[in-house]
Amino acid sequence: MPTPRDDQPASEAPAIVWFRRDLRLSDNPALHAARASGRPVVPLYVLDESPAIRPLGGASKWWLDKSLASLARDLEAIGSRLILRRGPAEAVLAALVQETGAGLATWNRLYDPGYPERDGALERRLVAAGVEVSTHEGCYLLAPDAVQKKAGGTFNVFTPFWRAARTLVEERPALPRPSQLKSPARWPACEALASWGLHPTRPDWSTGFDWRPGEADADALLREFLSGALKSYAADRDRPGVEGTSRLSPHLHWGEIGPRQVWRAAHRAQERRAAPDDQIDKFLAEVGWREFNLQILANKGDLAKVSFDPAFDRFPFRRDPQGLKAWQKGLTGYPMVDAGMRQLWALGWMHNRVRLITASFLVKHLLIDWREGEAWFWDTLVDADHANNAGNWQWVAGSGADASPWFRIFNPVTQGEKFDPSGDYIRRWAPELAKLPASAIHAPWTAPPDVLAAAGVQLGRTYPRPIVDHAAARARALDALKSLRAA
Ligand SMILES: Cc1cc2nc3c(=O)[nH]c(=O)nc-3n(C[C@H](O)[C@H](O)[C@H](O)COP(=O)(O)OP(=O)(O)OC[C@H]3O[C@@H](n4cnc5c(N)ncnc54)[C@H](O)[C@@H]3O)c2cc1C
Repeated sequence: MPTPRDDQPASEAPAIVWFRRDLRLSDNPALHAARASGRPVVPLYVLDESPAIRPLGGASKWWLDKSLASLARDLEAIGSRLILRRGPAEAVLAALVQETGAGLATWNRLYDPGYPERDGALERRLVAAGVEVSTHEGCYLLAPDAVQKKAGGTFNVFTPFWRAARTLVEERPALPRPSQLKSPARWPACEALASWGLHPTRPDWSTGFDWRPGEADADALLREFLSGALKSYAADRDRPGVEGTSRLSPHLHWGEIGPRQVWRAAHRAQERRAAPDDQIDKFLAEVGWREFNLQILANKGDLAKVSFDPAFDRFPFRRDPQGLKAWQKGLTGYPMVDAGMRQLWALGWMHNRVRLITASFLVKHLLIDWREGEAWFWDTLVDADHANNAGNWQWVAGSGADASPWFRIFNPVTQGEKFDPSGDYIRRWAPELAKLPASAIHAPWTAPPDVLAAAGVQLGRTYPRPIVDHAAARARALDALKSLRAA
């Protein structure tokens, strides 16, 4: 790695802020540290496609494209720029240090597989080359080893983890949003965002995405949620047909809003009595699952690959390419499952209750390896997040930390009747069933012929018959579990 240029005074040697999944100006510790150094600031984003880093899924690329454009605009508004470079982070930072003569590099820490090793090696090389490095906790409330059991070691069960974790979150005021950033004497070259090809073409499957990536909308969504749906969050969060959750997950994943900002705003809402305490606690506990999944991932290895409970790596999963295709396309014949999978394809997002139902169907009704489902969600979710996706898939599969037991097998019909009693969610995402009454919409194959005819539904033609029988699938899943236990 080259050494910084010695033809400029130290205070004029710029600070590189390496933006990663913290695409915001407010309350951003890495940006704050760079600015506080008094040096000119060079904001950087690196599209690193090295093999050690998991490649982004299609929906994530879509989001990143828009979010970077938004961050670049926000930086321009305060007299700065966003430098875009593609390549291995180590090579890109080395080149930029040489071009700019930077004397400081700052970033917020990430813990996905491959990141700590890459970032650690990069930090050592920068320091050896005389560049100061400062790294920060800007993507999570707490570092993944911050919450320790009394006897030592990290938690594997959520409730005691969260009870301990919430007392450790430091109450500090938000770091200010800079109103201006000092520019370097010469701006280094920047690649064109469009040349990265992050937006899908041939075909452009993103036409239904109704998201507005960027810090401003993340902030607006949080405010809207805190003054509205938060009041009845605990009950409404399970109703996919109503707007009962915050829809902040992609904004949080990309760091357009930080978890500390959410934490602080929820507490301010509590002080204003904007919502009952139990509703606010429930919401913050969900944000807590994000921290829990992170600390499991960071401490227990790559959970998108191996089961947290190693016994499950011997599970007799089936190879069923046809079943997998039917599930991916939302053509299983179970309306609640199909509506969810189609919402995922249309929006790049699926309601949490329906993620549980669809994931359970893949793993327990079809006995397909949860890794297949994890990979599909990784490619199609705009909030695809290594820790949360793998953690939740393993939770559903029964192999994860503090997981739902394998023998708890969701019935997709009764789940639909309970959480979408009017059938409106199904009507929206499986419109060929829209004219069925609520009494028939969750299990059309049980509806009398005249009800189907009146709704224009022809089973096997306009809508599939169930690809598996629930009772038979349930018995098969329980047998598979018994075989695992006997092994
Ligand atoms: C099979 C499966 C896969 C999932 N994959 C992802 C994923 O890749 N990325 C992701 O962010 N979430 C994932 N989740 C968790 C959850 O479904 C989403 O975070 C949630 O639906 C996002 O909607 P929201 O922002 O309206 O959530 P809200 O209910 O408003 O919750 C607020 C925030 O808390 C966090 N959160 C909520 N529920 C969970 C949870 N169960 N686990 C971890 N964090 C949570 C999210 O950051 C969310 O934005 C998955 C869940 C399942 C069952």
